[in-house]
Amino acid sequence: MRQTVQSETAEREDPRYLPPVQLARLGVSRLNRCGILLQCMTCGTTWSPKLRMDGTLPPGYWQCPNKCNW
Ligand SMILES: [Zn+2]
Repeated sequence: MRQTVQSETAEREDPRYLPPVQLARLGVSRLNRCGILLQCMTCGTTWSPKLRMDGTLPPGYWQCPNKCNW
């Protein structure tokens, strides 16, 4: 009996997003894992940045609409 099965089901971070640790440093937390819902830890505002045509996130997508972390 061989052990060929790797942990395929291991959760992988979406490379499009900054790692949660880095977002936290910017004062932002991600509310859901697969979608895009961000919350400002300063004012509590939530927002979801729009993906660009190529499916990538716009630069500065982590910025709070209230400019808390600009
Ligand atoms: Zn804010």
